[in-house]
Amino acid sequence: MKLNPYIQTFRRMSEAGGKIESGLYLHYPFCVSKCPYCHFSSVLYESELHRMWLQRIEQEINLLARFLACYLRIDTVYFGGGTPSLLGPEEVQLLISRIKQKLEVEAEEITLEVNPQADPEWIPGWLESGITRLSFGVQSFDPSVLRKIGRSYSPAEVINLLEKSKQSGAKNIGVDLMTGIPGESLSSIEINFQVLDQIRPEHVSVYLLEELENVPFRRIWEENPVSEEQTAERYECYRSGLEEKGWRQYEISNFASPGFECRHNLKYWKYRPFVGLGPASSSHLANLRWTVTSDIREWLETGGKEEVVLDEFLELTPEDEVRENLASSLRLTEGVSLEELASRYPFFCFSAYERKIKKLLEEGFLLKKGDRIMIPPENFLVSNWIISELIFP
Ligand code: SF4
Repeated sequence: MKLNPYIQTFRRMSEAGGKIESGLYLHYPFCVSKCPYCHFSSVLYESELHRMWLQRIEQEINLLARFLACYLRIDTVYFGGGTPSLLGPEEVQLLISRIKQKLEVEAEEITLEVNPQADPEWIPGWLESGITRLSFGVQSFDPSVLRKIGRSYSPAEVINLLEKSKQSGAKNIGVDLMTGIPGESLSSIEINFQVLDQIRPEHVSVYLLEELENVPFRRIWEENPVSEEQTAERYECYRSGLEEKGWRQYEISNFASPGFECRHNLKYWKYRPFVGLGPASSSHLANLRWTVTSDIREWLETGGKEEVVLDEFLELTPEDEVRENLASSLRLTEGVSLEELASRYPFFCFSAYERKIKKLLEEGFLLKKGDRIMIPPENFLVSNWIISELIFP
């Protein structure tokens, strides 16, 4: 469907009045090659498509600003992808300055996702352009694991890039790792710990290899599957090891030195407003949620028009919002405050949820501290089941 999602959002926000703090996400959808396990929305890089993306994303910034500039204060910006580190320092600088010209920005954090094969010479330029956080999609420092997942860089290249970032003055570095990979062993995790100790990034994410339904890696997985017990053992090894080494777990897959939790991603988990620009991006403002088409050519073709092609545009009921809020906030180690939830939805009747919470507390699947409920970390691997027990009838 083609429509301008900002018109309805404008109506809702003008009724409510005042400004809200919001995150801003920009999706850069191109990669130099497609990783065999990847289920993200990305296509192969072409310089002409890159140029068209820059033009179109500027139009989207303008369209957002035209309708909602008076109602938004942007406090986090996130360049995700795809491979947004294919954007050179001047291009990142231009985009940040456009965002600042058109919208009220008091950004506490501006993140760029960086591919391990990025040009180290670009790092100082990115930092000068306003990027405050670099998030590296490393996956593993064990060369045999990298070969298995079809990544062609060497651990030495990544370590060089991370060290160059530190030397260039980066104060907030994230390293993303993946576990549950065929061929990975406890010694692969030990190798990762050694490099993490050497580099001391401020943030570490550990994602499970999953959603392999329609990707080529499925065949490799089927030849050498990893059992649930093995995945649980590796996850637990990361969890306890990272905590021991000073990275505090704050979400199922995320660990940080105190004060370095990713503020942008916290918006998703705390169910706070965010706007997404670019193909396949999602937005959630007022009680409206929409997702832009993931078809890159379709997205590019609406350039210059006041409409965006959307895959989904939803008006959420209070019931939808309570469910989504619980599902996302229970991913956090701090869980969710029931008092805060009740004050966000003052006319909602929580009695059905209270009964389920009581049952899950009695069974030990949830914990309660003060007015907060949370999933105990030892139950994180069954969190999907716990959350669906709680939120579905
Ligand atoms: S670099 Fe990231 S987004 Fe691109 S294909 Fe690989 S996993 Fe997917």
